Amino acid sequence: MNGGRRLRIPSPKCPMKTDALAPGQTIGILGGGQLGRMIAMSAARIGLRTHVFEPGAMPPAGEVAGMTTTADYCDREALAAFADGVDVVTYEFENIPAEALDLIEARVPIRPSRRALAVSQDRLREKRFLNGIGLATAPFHPVDSASPHAASILKQAMEAVGLPAILKTRRLGYDGKGQVRIEEAGCSADPLAAMAGAEAILEGFVAFEQEVSVIAARGTDGRIACFEPGENVHKYGILRTTRVPARIDPGTRECAFEIAAAILNALDYCGVIGVELFDTTDGLVVNEFAPRVHNSGHWTEAGAVIDQFEQHVRAVAGWPLVDPIRHSDVEMTNLIGEDVSDVLAIACEDGARLHLYGKTEMRAGRKMGHVTRVLGPATSL
Ligand code: AMP
Repeated sequence: MNGGRRLRIPSPKCPMKTDALAPGQTIGILGGGQLGRMIAMSAARIGLRTHVFEPGAMPPAGEVAGMTTTADYCDREALAAFADGVDVVTYEFENIPAEALDLIEARVPIRPSRRALAVSQDRLREKRFLNGIGLATAPFHPVDSASPHAASILKQAMEAVGLPAILKTRRLGYDGKGQVRIEEAGCSADPLAAMAGAEAILEGFVAFEQEVSVIAARGTDGRIACFEPGENVHKYGILRTTRVPARIDPGTRECAFEIAAAILNALDYCGVIGVELFDTTDGLVVNEFAPRVHNSGHWTEAGAVIDQFEQHVRAVAGWPLVDPIRHSDVEMTNLIGEDVSDVLAIACEDGARLHLYGKTEMRAGRKMGHVTRVLGPATSL
């Protein structure tokens, strides 16, 4: 056995809540995508109901949740009815309008907290937060691309962080969207144009050996449980594979756990978090964190005694966390766009577990499902 790690680090701000949900009570999920779907499936497995709130029609999570509200995030009446009908609210994506959260929070607890969401929604605030708790990030500089002085601000930023660098929108970016790489000053294309007037941040390029992530959870009692770090490969900015265990040395592995714990405690967090890290010759550098279940944690459904979704449900429901012991080496591969055209071949492979999200429309770059392949019993590197 090669377990994850349960850290017993007491948090000074730990609220020690005791209001655990009973089977039959309901978790509200903001967002109806595949992550919401997998949260709903896990909740059902342990006798908890789910109610999904999603503006789009026929969301993947709607097929498995007990109830779905189809309404916009500015529909106050629908939000109030949703909040009044559930016992706790969680979310499966970050870009939820603050007004919607204000209304919900006045009626029912939101887990993870508003602060975790607010910090992670803004790359600048996130980096300042991470540096503030002593964690290393890429060097960065804010760039207001709408300013009449944007070109000179960008020049200053390039001098500050060095080149190559990546100009990113501060908000609403995901899977490499809203990003431009700048190799050298004065290159022909104007990187500011790609920001379309949005507030941006210039990040120095981190020369990493590999990308790893750690999925961790913190319960309402302040207990922390970390899954084994995974090694991630991206293609065109989208996660392609996660392999566990990551090829990192024991000291780096320990450091990944400590980083996750530091973030969880500083945010007085409740739920699962995904922390993306760059492994460099100078140690681990935090890229970003997602205050939710994470694509790079899908391997847990085939490789550990509990998966990230059930761990998240347990945390937000106020249940004790499970020690996330890993029993297998696993590789998870995302099925993106046309990758699903030959799913039956995958379904016939030995040791491969297919998971499709029920999306009827296949589009290039769209995450349609994933496959987990068990490589053998858990080994450590
Ligand atoms: P992000 O959306 O910020 O997670 O970026 C998507 C991917 O771009 C990351 O997983 C990395 O592969 C790469 N990337 C982003 N920021 C940096 C950086 N500062 N240095 C090196 N690579 C980066």
